[in-house]
Amino acid sequence: MSTILHVDSSTLFRTLLRETFMSFGWKYLAADGIAETLAVIQDTPIDLVVTALELADGRADELVAMVNDGKRREIPIVIMSSSDSIEVRKNLLLRGVIDFIPKNITQEQLRIYIQKLIRRDDVIEAMQNIPVAVLDDSEFDLKYMKSIFDFHGLENVDFFKEPDALLKSEKKYDVYLVDVVLPKYSGDQVVYSIRSQNKTCAIIAVSAVDHFKTISNVLLSGADDYILKPYNESVFMARLKSSVRHLLLYRELEKKNQELARMIITDSLTGLYNHQYIYEQIKNEIKKAQRYERSFSVIMFDIDDFKKINDTHGHQVGDGVLVKLSDALRESVREVDLVGRYGGEEFLLALPETSLENAYQLAERIRVKIEHLSFGGGIGVTLSGGVAESTEDDDEKSLVARADSLLYAAKREGKNRIKK
Ligand code: GH3
Ligand code: MG
Ligand code: MG
Repeated sequence: MSTILHVDSSTLFRTLLRETFMSFGWKYLAADGIAETLAVIQDTPIDLVVTALELADGRADELVAMVNDGKRREIPIVIMSSSDSIEVRKNLLLRGVIDFIPKNITQEQLRIYIQKLIRRDDVIEAMQNIPVAVLDDSEFDLKYMKSIFDFHGLENVDFFKEPDALLKSEKKYDVYLVDVVLPKYSGDQVVYSIRSQNKTCAIIAVSAVDHFKTISNVLLSGADDYILKPYNESVFMARLKSSVRHLLLYRELEKKNQELARMIITDSLTGLYNHQYIYEQIKNEIKKAQRYERSFSVIMFDIDDFKKINDTHGHQVGDGVLVKLSDALRESVREVDLVGRYGGEEFLLALPETSLENAYQLAERIRVKIEHLSFGGGIGVTLSGGVAESTEDDDEKSLVARADSLLYAAKREGKNRIKK
């Protein structure tokens, strides 16, 4: 949420703008003049200052000069005024005001106008949900660091004075700030230890040691950045955000990669494994079964007279039947079993550590279950199946071919049956 500080000596105008800003979902703070403004911005993060020209204790140009000379000089300031004297504007722009808003602007125009001015900081926003650990043996430095985090509204931060306390902590952090000179351990050992357990977190070393060997050593131990003490607060936050931005990008990439990896092996309609993947897995499972002398079986199912369902109810209803059937298949097997969509309405089940007899019993149970399953609209389907167990001489081709020819024997013998 953006926080806007409105500076105006008129209570009426403050009330008006408070309602408007709050209706836009912004946090509204008010000040009547220069002194109050300086007090507010000192310990509250402000996204934008909107000020009138004449204030309770001075003028806008004095306010701008004082803010821009202070610690919070990065806060953007706009003037809201009914005066459009070029001279006044020029003078204020020269002092660092970034824009002017006419007082007679409509609410919607104002919303668009201010939205443009607020510099939304996505990284700071994301950091609200990112756990941060700070390790520093100096109480003073910890306190200082805490004041910076507090100032930016970041509460998800834990502070450690002892390296052991951090290293033994159950909690995993996304960002680590590690002092380099510590009792017992050296900071690079701590960095190395964190990095060995967590490849993707951001680790930032902080130290007063400004020697090229120390810096390169810590970075080579796994730190992403090295910030020199004493901190300049702006530089500290900028470097921290830069590391977090990289972390967020990495996480996004990782998520996309996982999605892609899943898509590559999944059939999009049913969510089952696709033809290629189930075939590949059967190949691997046969090899495993042969090496360890374990049993391994497959079941090939085909829906009986599926064409009729499409012809009678349409292709979309047919698709719905495939989805519901696939869910039922998935729910009928153990976690180690794999269910794939082998063809349009053909399904292949891979069952590790399963004998022919057990696979047959499972196929029968599934056949009966599907026979009694309602697919809505009075639709029912039956399955035919072939079950085969792998032998020492089998490969994926021969095993699947056996299950397939048994399936066709089941079809020939009248469908809705399983052959082994
Ligand atoms: P049988 O009992 O001999 O297996 O008869 P069948 O009608 O099930 O077999 P056939 O192989 O003649 O037809 C299979 C049908 O499955 C034809 C095809 O249109 C349909 N089909 C294949 N893939 C899909 C799909 O993704 N969605 C839908 N709705 N139908 C599909
Ligand atoms: Mg069929
Ligand atoms: Mg078929």
